[in-house]
Formats: sequence, structure tokens, C-alpha cells
Amino acid sequence: MEMKLGHFSLGPKKQECSECHEKFHEYDELVSHVRKRQHGPILRCHNCGREFVKESDRYHHLQEEKAKKLDSRRHR
Ligand SMILES: [Zn+2]
Ligand SMILES: [Zn+2]
Repeated sequence: MEMKLGHFSLGPKKQECSECHEKFHEYDELVSHVRKRQHGPILRCHNCGREFVKESDRYHHLQEEKAKKLDSRRHR
């Protein structure tokens, strides 16, 4: 009998600490880890208060928020 897999799941994205390479399931866990170990400054989104450990992460989040805002404006 032939076995076929329907699809491959990519699995959860792992968040890795760039300082000590510890891995976390959730981004928020990584943020609290960085704060606890004092690896570096925590960046904050000025719109919703979400915290980030990398400027590029915050930038990406801001782009997503901007896109959402434009979207809701379009729908009115
Ligand atoms: Zn770390
Ligand atoms: Zn935000």
C-alpha cells in the first residue's frame, strides 16, 4: 500500500535569542527573556505598546499596522 502525506506542516516558528541562542515558541517569551537577562533595550510600538527586541521586528510590525489601517479606511 502506498503511503501519501497530504501536506508538510512547517511547524511553529522558533524565536531565537541572538545573544545566547536560547529558543522560544512565542515572541513575547523572547522579549521577557531579553529583559530578564538585560541583553539590550526593549523597543516599544508607540501605537499599541507591543514590545520588540530588534528594530527590524518593530519596523515590520509598524508596516503591518499601517497596512491594516489603510485597509479599514478603505472599508469605512
Ligand atoms: Zn539570551
Ligand atoms: Zn503596534
